[in-house]
Amino acid sequence: MKKNKISKKRLEKGPVAIIECPEKIPCNPCVKACPKEAIIIEDSLIETPKIDYKKCVGCFLCIPKCPGLAIFGVYYNYTKNESLLFIPYEFLPRPKKGDILWGLDCNGKKISKVIVEKVTETPNFNHCAIIQIRVKKKYFDKIRMISYEKK
Ligand code: SF4
Ligand code: SF4
Repeated sequence: MKKNKISKKRLEKGPVAIIECPEKIPCNPCVKACPKEAIIIEDSLIETPKIDYKKCVGCFLCIPKCPGLAIFGVYYNYTKNESLLFIPYEFLPRPKKGDILWGLDCNGKKISKVIVEKVTETPNFNHCAIIQIRVKKKYFDKIRMISYEKK
């Protein structure tokens, strides 16, 4: 899958969305969800979306609107050593603030332990919550899921 590459400069500027939409399907709730018109699908509805990073303000309204759970948020400079990731999560039970869980890559491989910072429920059709997790900065672009297995 080709990623919509983001510059280090934009990452360091503040919270921003990342889209990793894997398949060409006729779908565009992400485009409609963005109040800044920062999400673009060019040419045809089946093309995968891209983010205009000059327009994205990191509001993350788009995250729970994606039926494919393909939108994430990142606050790269959350602390000196950690980024804060915003991950869509449909499962129950929800994790809780302070839980130490496994962060997984998009194939389910364990990457590193993460700490749950906040859980926000959304009024979305799929009962999607947004889980904020603290991750080591080097994994901001790798961790995309959490495993409830605390271990
Ligand atoms: S985070 Fe907000 S501004 Fe950025 S793409 Fe998503 S909805 Fe648009
Ligand atoms: S809503 Fe999600 S699955 Fe649909 S086009 Fe946007 S990113 Fe892809």
